[in-house]
Amino acid sequence: MKTNITMNVTITLPDGSAKEYPQGVKGSEIASGISEGLARNALAIEVNGEVWDLSRPITSNANVKILTWNDTTGKSTFWHSSAHLMAEALESLYPGVKFGIGPAIANGFYYDIDLNGKPFGDEELVAVEKKMKELAKANLVYSREDVSKSEALKYFTKKGDQYKLELIKDLKDGSITFYNQGNFTDLCKGPHIPNTGFIKAVKLLNVAGAYWRGDEKNKMLTRIYGITFPKQKELEEYLHLLEEAKKRDHRKLGKELELFAFSDKVGQGLPLWLPKGTILRERLEQFLRKAQVKAGYDPVVTPHIGGKSLYVTSGHYEKYGKDSFQPIHTPDENEEFLLKPMNCPHHCEIYKVKPRSYRDLPIRFAEFGTVYRYEQSGELHGLTRVRGFTQDDAHIFCRPDQVKDEFIKVIDLVLHVFNSLGFSDYTAQVSLRDPDNKEKYIGGDELWDRAEREIQEAADEKGLKTVAVKGEAAFYGPKLDFMVKDALGRSWQLGTIQVDYQLPQRFQLEYIGADNQRHTPVMIHRAPFGSLERFVAVLIEHCAGNFPLWLAPDQIAVLPISERFNDYAQHVFDKLKAQDIRGLLDNRDEKIGRKIRDAETKKIPYMLIVGEREENESKVAVRRHGQGDQGSVPLDDFVNEFQRECSAPV
Ligand SMILES: [Zn+2]
Ligand SMILES: [Zn+2]
Repeated sequence: MKTNITMNVTITLPDGSAKEYPQGVKGSEIASGISEGLARNALAIEVNGEVWDLSRPITSNANVKILTWNDTTGKSTFWHSSAHLMAEALESLYPGVKFGIGPAIANGFYYDIDLNGKPFGDEELVAVEKKMKELAKANLVYSREDVSKSEALKYFTKKGDQYKLELIKDLKDGSITFYNQGNFTDLCKGPHIPNTGFIKAVKLLNVAGAYWRGDEKNKMLTRIYGITFPKQKELEEYLHLLEEAKKRDHRKLGKELELFAFSDKVGQGLPLWLPKGTILRERLEQFLRKAQVKAGYDPVVTPHIGGKSLYVTSGHYEKYGKDSFQPIHTPDENEEFLLKPMNCPHHCEIYKVKPRSYRDLPIRFAEFGTVYRYEQSGELHGLTRVRGFTQDDAHIFCRPDQVKDEFIKVIDLVLHVFNSLGFSDYTAQVSLRDPDNKEKYIGGDELWDRAEREIQEAADEKGLKTVAVKGEAAFYGPKLDFMVKDALGRSWQLGTIQVDYQLPQRFQLEYIGADNQRHTPVMIHRAPFGSLERFVAVLIEHCAGNFPLWLAPDQIAVLPISERFNDYAQHVFDKLKAQDIRGLLDNRDEKIGRKIRDAETKKIPYMLIVGEREENESKVAVRRHGQGDQGSVPLDDFVNEFQRECSAPV
């Protein structure tokens, strides 16, 4: 009789279904067992939260998920494997090239290499790309190999790669693995896709310099960026998107549309809002102000600086003091002030100006408050990373039993803002504290657990799609961040809502409860736009500078077809202005074709062209940006129709 003693392991799939497999089962076998399609598209497998190669034996019970191109971790495994493919191509074209690190990034991958002074430019990029495609076609298998530290050192000593040797020296013996594909071996903890044949489309994007280990005392290496896809069509779509993103870049459009500027004399990261940008910004402010009045907010105004002790009390000084703008001193009294990094401490002081009763709560203070935060010059980027910006800030002070209701009301307001501005695709991220690093955060477990639970409940009640991310909370409380997708499918973090049980305690805020006792209120911080700077940047790129009519800095351009009609054009323009319609009169001595082209470039929504017929019949010939002629209409009809179209959302 034959006895067959094999141990089994229980494999649990994401849908909760479980199946027994022989011990040592591989991800590829599990995928085949589910479906042929999945097996064909499988890139890696998640085993108890860790990403593994599909060929690695699973030896104990596990929760697994087969990863494909549709998973973020599937993509990053694909891109990291592509970095190895690029390294192999480089090594075959440049024998003796040395390698630093080659990770996957948000879109694609890079590898830092040392070419020993050899020039590397566009032509070389194309050659490497070609080699990569050739190697990819060979379906080279990525294989994992456990090596001892001494073996690893021996291999890279022989190869003469000092960067890898430096990396190995920091590793523990017994935890070191190599990955091989074709003729290439890399020090790597993996994971990787099964073979290079999955990589069907390759594009090397650009070359930059990068100091080894990010330290400027070290040698400058050559960083090559690339991206790969499982289908050629996906690469083409991506490259098209890149082109489109370049055209929509808010820094470029901000200049062309005269919205904002920067001046070295004023200082980097400190935007100057030009007249047209200011109109846009003020329209957004008015829109939100109105919505906030309806929602029961009280506007307040506070100064741009605050005494140092204010921020010592709030904890901001301890947390950011050293790494931010340094205090301003007065000459005689030697007082110390800080540029305001946040509005909340000021609002706490407003709360304290008089005694509060439980019947007064919630109290909601709103301020378009300008704050200043130090960012290293290398981090600054257009309007999205600046040193001075205006938050559409508000702080809600409420009783603990009101937190969830207030949170829900804020979610409603945030969604109203997004929907009114054409952002219909969003998800919410619940940012929790890192349970393994509790000392990074102010406050006890009980408060944190409660706040985290109430945020999740409020989001669930509003039917929001949420993902919970550990370690993303602010140091004083958990939060709900809204991730918004723009017209190009890119994700931006915009509005944020945050529960805070800490700051009211630090400021010793209180209210008298129904029980006649003193209690501490809870604070909610919120900013639907985030900041006006960042929001305007995202809005510009989302709508490519074609703002909704109610926001457009110039809504109409009146264009006389020749100087003979300048008087009638002036009459039309005055009439529109009297109706609060914004725009310009182009009475230059130019051909009408030129005037139309200029108005199109400025992305002005309506062009009103006037000539003899229009003057005789009190009409205007209407042209819509990007859509062409709409025909002639009586001026009064146009005004009525326009007013209907341009009313701000309510
Ligand atoms: Zn690797
Ligand atoms: Zn705040």
